[in-house]
Formats: sequence, C-alpha cells, structure tokens
Amino acid sequence: MKSLPSFNFTDKRALIRVDFNVPLDADLQVTDASRIEAAKPTIIHILENGGSVVLMSHLGRPDGKPSPELSLQHLVDTIEEIIGVSVQFSVDTIGPDAEKRAEALEPGQILLLENLRFYNEETDGDEAFASALAKLGHIFVNDAFGTAHRAHASTAIIAKFFPENKCFGLLMEKEIRAIEQVLKTGEHPITAIMGGSKVSSKITIIENVLSAIDHLIVGGGMTYTFVKALGGSVGDSICENDKLDLALSILEKAKQHNVTVHLPVDVIAANDFAENADTKVVDANAIESGWQGLDAGPKTLEIFEKVILASKTILWNGPVGVFEMEAFASGTKAIGRFVQAATEKGAFSLVGGGDSVAAVKQFGFSDKVSYVSTGGGAMLESLEGKTLPGVAAILEG
Ligand code: AMP
Repeated sequence: MKSLPSFNFTDKRALIRVDFNVPLDADLQVTDASRIEAAKPTIIHILENGGSVVLMSHLGRPDGKPSPELSLQHLVDTIEEIIGVSVQFSVDTIGPDAEKRAEALEPGQILLLENLRFYNEETDGDEAFASALAKLGHIFVNDAFGTAHRAHASTAIIAKFFPENKCFGLLMEKEIRAIEQVLKTGEHPITAIMGGSKVSSKITIIENVLSAIDHLIVGGGMTYTFVKALGGSVGDSICENDKLDLALSILEKAKQHNVTVHLPVDVIAANDFAENADTKVVDANAIESGWQGLDAGPKTLEIFEKVILASKTILWNGPVGVFEMEAFASGTKAIGRFVQAATEKGAFSLVGGGDSVAAVKQFGFSDKVSYVSTGGGAMLESLEGKTLPGVAAILEG
C-alpha cells in the first residue's frame, strides 16, 4: 500500500473523499468547520506538490434527492477561507459537465463537487456511480474517516477503479495509526477508561480491548450495572438490570486476560437528576433509594489518578459523570487533567467516541492529549475490532 507522501502529484488530479458533513445554521452558514480544518493538511500537501484537487463529500441526509439547503455550495466560502485557495464548484456530482470542469483544473486549483447523497447510488454503493466518480481524478485519496464504516460508492466501491493509485489521506492515516497504537503497538501499561451511560452500548468495545490492555477503568452510568451485579445497592442510579450477567462475564473475561478492573468506590449521589439537586458523597455500593450516582467520588478519583499516571498508553471513551451539568462535571474534568498529566509524562492518549470528545472539547483538553478522534461511529467500530469497508478498500491490492 502506498502512502500519500509517496505519490508524485505533479500534473495529477487527486480525487479526495473528505468528510465535510458540517453543521449549518438557519442562514446556511457553517457553524463548526473542524472537519474542513481536519482535511486541510491532505489538500495542501497535494496542491504544494504540483497537483490539483477534486473534493467530494456528503452533507446531511438528502435521501437521494437534490435539496437546495444541503448543497455543498454553502461550504465554498468557508473552504476558501481555511485552505486559502479559491474553490470552483460543480453543480453536477458526476457526468460530462463535472468531467469537463475536472479536466480543466490547473495545478494548485480546487473543484468541489455537489453533495454525493443527492444520489441514492452513493449510499447503495452502486458500482456505475462509483465508476462515474472515478473518471474525475487520477489518484483516489480517502480522507473521510468519519464515513469509513460505510460501504458507500465514494468511500469503498470507488477504490477498485484505482488499483495502483489509491491511498489514505493524512487525517485518515492518523486515525488508523492512533487506534493501532492503542490496540496493537502501544507501550504498556495500557489503560482503557470506559464511561458513558450504559454497558450495553460499550460491551463490544470492552470485550475487544480486553486482549490489548492492562487496566480497565469503569466510570459513568455503566458503573451501577457492575455494582449491582456484584451485590451492591445502587438506589435510583441508572442500571441495566438485564445486563447484570453480562457485567459479571466482563469481569471474568478481564481476569482471564490479566486485566485489572477499577470500579468507582465512592460516587457523588444526588436526590434528583438535576443541576440543583442535593448531593452527597457515598460508597458506590451503598446508594439509598431516592438517590442516584451522577459523578465519580474523591476516593475513586485518587485511585483513577494513580492508574492513569502510571500508564504509557491511554484510551478514553465516555465521560465518568453527567458532565453536561456543572454539578456533576468534576469527575470528567479530573480525568481530563490526569490524562493530560500522563501525556505530558510521555504517554500516548487517544480520546475517541462521541461524548468524551465533546467533553474534552468543552473543558479545553483537546490539545493536551495526544489525539482526539474525529471519527465518531467509525472510531467506535474500529475499537470494536471491526474492519471498516473504507479502510479495507484502500488496503486491498
Ligand atoms: P455514552 O453516549 O454512552 O458515552 O454516554 C454519555 C452520557 O452518559 C452522557 O450524556 C452522560 O451524561 C451520561 N452519564 C454519565 N454518567 C452518568 C450517570 N452516572 N448517570 C446517568 N448518566 C450518566
């Protein structure tokens, strides 16, 4: 497999699948351009190396029909601002006019195609549609990690039309390396911090990472399913009563893999799921009825701190409390500080998965950890051990 830097882009047109599925406000202005920022290094690399660029992406869910409010035209100004190069727009995604515009590109120029999902063929993984897209470039670059878990025409099927001329973009390469660094090549001790609301949504990740890690820190709402399974009282805390056996089986599997599991020993309990509820610190296994655990307690955080600071590789997925409410955000902020401190001491830290990514952004830790995934569902599926179609399509010979 070739890497992006190994290609000679001189006078070549790179067809880049990017993930520009960005939020727009009522005036159709981009409100968060981080996905465009994330693709910048790949685009700049190609332009600086004598190539031109055709960008393709989806935006929203137009369900196979043109829909003016989901036109990629609305992104042109923002892309120009971020990349610093003027952007031509093709109102057609495929076809003779799009081909003519692509062929007319000079080195250093950018053409943005209309929304891929204006065609059902995109999400259907239609081969003829992929072949029509493939006519628009000489080299296919996949930099859309966020859609790599979908076998769509532009993310996976298209790769077969570029048997020798395909590669990952720099963003996608970083995401893949970050996951490998945790699951395959990471320095030990390796710690996974798993939080969030439910065991059921994290079970596949936990089971998959057990063979790679040394320590499993459990936090957040899923704590109480474990505590109850072990015979504790969880009061009104969130608890999946039908997953108690599952929790016990995770603990058993952890033992088989020599993984030390660290469960909260104390929690901040509240008498209501509300910002202004009364709170008290109680043992995690002795929560009275009428009270629910909503954040990690001080003794717990001391234990977690020691484990995290001794780690050389850290995966953080999910908040350890209801961080959206200030009253229950301290635990998640503390985990952020511990992961930051471990990173400063030389550990590799990956934050992946929706809510922990939101938490590190909200609390200002994004540039204090080694890598914050932009991948969402694709990151979660990778951590679950699944091979992503968009990744496999590039790796296949
Ligand atoms: P997830 O999407 O599974 O990662 O879950 C994230 C959500 O879990 C966040 O919205 C948190 O508010 C929630 N959460 C974390 N700790 C608790 C808790 N102790 N009780 C209820 N919800 C929690």
